[in-house]
Amino acid sequence: MCKKLLPTQFIADTGERIYRIPCDFHRSMTSYVHLILGTGPAVLVDCGSGEGNCFQEITDAFHYIRSNFHETFDISQIGRIIITHAHIDHGGGAAEFLEKTSAEVMCHSYDAPVMTRYDERASIGNRRFSDFLKTTGTAQELCREIIEAFGFTPGRAKSVEKVHILSDGEKLDNLTIHHTPGHSPGHICIQVGNRHLISGDHILSKTLTPIWPERLTPHSGMTHFLDSLDKIRRIAGHMTALPGHEEVIPLLSVRLDMAEKSHFRRNERVLRLLRENETPMTVSELARRMYLVQTGTWALVTLTDIAARIEYLEQHNLVSTANATALEQEKEDIYLYQPVRHSASRST
Ligand SMILES: [Zn+2]
Ligand SMILES: [Zn+2]
Repeated sequence: MCKKLLPTQFIADTGERIYRIPCDFHRSMTSYVHLILGTGPAVLVDCGSGEGNCFQEITDAFHYIRSNFHETFDISQIGRIIITHAHIDHGGGAAEFLEKTSAEVMCHSYDAPVMTRYDERASIGNRRFSDFLKTTGTAQELCREIIEAFGFTPGRAKSVEKVHILSDGEKLDNLTIHHTPGHSPGHICIQVGNRHLISGDHILSKTLTPIWPERLTPHSGMTHFLDSLDKIRRIAGHMTALPGHEEVIPLLSVRLDMAEKSHFRRNERVLRLLRENETPMTVSELARRMYLVQTGTWALVTLTDIAARIEYLEQHNLVSTANATALEQEKEDIYLYQPVRHSASRST
C-alpha cells in the first residue's frame, strides 16, 4: 500500500459505503480505485494498472478496510468491475482481478475495444500518434524520443475476454452511469446516490484533465470534453467528486466552473497567439509559446493539448488551415494554422 495514503470511507445518502483506495501508478502518480459496498454485489470502480505492486496494494487495502471499518467483505464478493475509462492506470489490472473473482467487467462501448483487444489498439494508437507528430512541426529527433518514451506498448496490459457494455443513464441499483467523453471516447462517471460522483479523470482537483485531439482518438477531444463538463454541471448540485487522481473535490460544481473557465482562457490564448503572429503557426510553435518548455512528458502533453485546442477552434470556425492545398498535394506534411478573419465574435 502507498506509504502515507490509507483508504478512506464515504457514506452515500442512499447508504452505500464507498472506500477510496490509493495505489501507485508510477513513482510520481497515485491512482485511486473505489470499492462500493451495500449496493447489490460489491463493486470495484477501476482496478489499477496491473503493474508493479498495484494489485497487492489494492488487496492490502481490502484487509485494512476489513480491520478498520469492520467490513466482512472478501475479494471473491466483487461482482462488478466498472472501468471509468480504458487508460492503463484505470483498467490495466482487470485481467488480474478476474483470476480472483467471477466479476463482470463493465465499461462504455467506445472504450471496450481497448479492454478486449489491448495490443491491436496500442499498435493503431502508435501509428496515429506517429502520423500526428509529423504534422506538428516537431523536430524528428524529439518525435522519436516522444514515441519511445510515451508510445503505447503492445503486451503492457492484459486484455479481458469480454465486457458488459454500459450506456449513458443506465442504473445499477443505486449507481447511475454518465457518459462523459473527452478525456477518452467512452469515459464514464459513476454517481452513487445523490451526493457522490466517482469522476475518473473527467475532473481533477488541481490540474486540468489532459485532452487529446479527436484525430488521435475519435470521439474524444475538447468539444466533447467541454460538453461533458456541462452535462455533469447540470447534475452536480451539492455533490462531492472522488476523482481517479489527486484529492477529493468537496464542492464539485465550484471546481467544474473553475476548470471550464481555465479551458476557455487557454483556448482564447491560442487564438490570440495566432492573431498576433504575422504568419501562420504550427502546433509545435504554439506549444512553445504557450507552455515554454518542450522536453520530456511536457513535450507530449503540450503538443496534444495545443492540437486539441486548435481542433476545437476549427470546429467553432475560429481557426483555419493555411496550407490546405500543399497538404492535399503532399508537398508539405506540417499543418499551418491561422485565425479565421471577420468571423462573428463569440465565446471560445
Ligand atoms: Zn485517463
Ligand atoms: Zn488516470
